Amino acid sequence: MSELLSRTHAVALDAADPLRTLRSEFVFPQHNHRDQTYFVGNSLGLQPRGARAAVQDVMDKWASLAVEGHFTGDTQWLRYHRLVSEQLARVVGALPSEVVAMNTLSVNLHLMMVSFYRPSRERPAILIEAGAFPTDRHAVESQIRFHSFDPATDLIEVQPDEPNGTISLQAIERAITEHGPRLALVLWPGVQYRSGQVFDLDAITRMARLQGARVGFDLAHSVGNISLQLHDIAPDFAVWCHYKYLNAGPGAVAGCFVHERHHRDTSLPRFAGWWGHEEATRFKMAPQFVPAVGAEGWQLSNPPVLGLAPLRAALDVVDKAGGIAALREKSLRLTGLLDALVRARLTGVLEILTPSEPDRRGCQLSLRVVGGRERGRSLFEYLQTVGVLGDWREPDVIRISPTPLYNRYQDLHHFVDEVDAWAGL
Ligand SMILES: *Cc1c(COP(=O)(O)O)cnc(C)c1O
Repeated sequence: MSELLSRTHAVALDAADPLRTLRSEFVFPQHNHRDQTYFVGNSLGLQPRGARAAVQDVMDKWASLAVEGHFTGDTQWLRYHRLVSEQLARVVGALPSEVVAMNTLSVNLHLMMVSFYRPSRERPAILIEAGAFPTDRHAVESQIRFHSFDPATDLIEVQPDEPNGTISLQAIERAITEHGPRLALVLWPGVQYRSGQVFDLDAITRMARLQGARVGFDLAHSVGNISLQLHDIAPDFAVWCHYKYLNAGPGAVAGCFVHERHHRDTSLPRFAGWWGHEEATRFKMAPQFVPAVGAEGWQLSNPPVLGLAPLRAALDVVDKAGGIAALREKSLRLTGLLDALVRARLTGVLEILTPSEPDRRGCQLSLRVVGGRERGRSLFEYLQTVGVLGDWREPDVIRISPTPLYNRYQDLHHFVDEVDAWAGL
């Protein structure tokens, strides 16, 4: 075995890792009085230590100031959503005016489709990936029905065409070209949740816009994971959640992007609420809706301050790391090492389903256990008993997502050693 795949080398990589101190910014679940080896940042990121203080700060202000908290200090609640705009904009490569933290992902997806899915008889269809995350499929199917069109003909799903269930860019291009004149919207993920595949969002956006379709992204598995340049790639909208790689806590307030070119377009239909009204005249309480310029114009309600507080702490940790570029750099090495270790030591036990090209994957590797579902479940359960946490996706996939904020190179050895031990049992 190559020296590069030794535990000693991993320990040396950890010692030299410029992000190594960030691990202490997080609270780890304990297993036998030791930190769990946690590989589930793709599902629910760990708690940043600053989150509790951020929530406590709101609680204290509520206790001491009550309604005055809306207007008092740098963190006044009236503008609380804006406290995260600049940091969020950096995370997704957007202008601050293009992003807003509000609602949850599925809600934002519907709100965006109200504005950007405008089917006509000639152009009624939505194109998505086959095997999309259920909420995305439910959302598009129900929107198609809501407009009295028929999902049987107007929901187009691009089938995987590669051996491990991934989708080539050529297959996406063929589908967009074939259905082009009928496409009202192309909705695509940045990272596929099951396979871990990263898509070329720039190419997909260009193909879709060439056909006259609107483009939206679901970035649930992308934010905090891969580099995004939303302003330049220029989809019409994007939505994401903050509880996966961004560590803002269970059910955290989600994110939404609306490209600048739509900011002053008052002809776009939208479901309006008072918080989307322009700030200067909001409290005149007049009956006419005047939308705020920018993504904030799609807000409905006053900001859920307690829900937003942990997001501030989570984004501060990303800044401490030096931003997404620094995280991605470590992530490429971490996941690259996991890939190499699995190939060198676990052939015949685990198959890697995620693409092997570094630019076609993020943190996550999706691993199929050789021997079928029962063996897979047995391995998954064994790993839990030894303090290694991944997650399970039916029928036979274990997802392992080393995250650059708090995973170490030596964690990968813990995983591989334990799989090896289980296989020898
Ligand atoms: C996690 C995830 C969601 C979650 O939706 P919520 O509205 O936050 O419950 C949606 N879509 C994708 C692709 C996801 O990975």
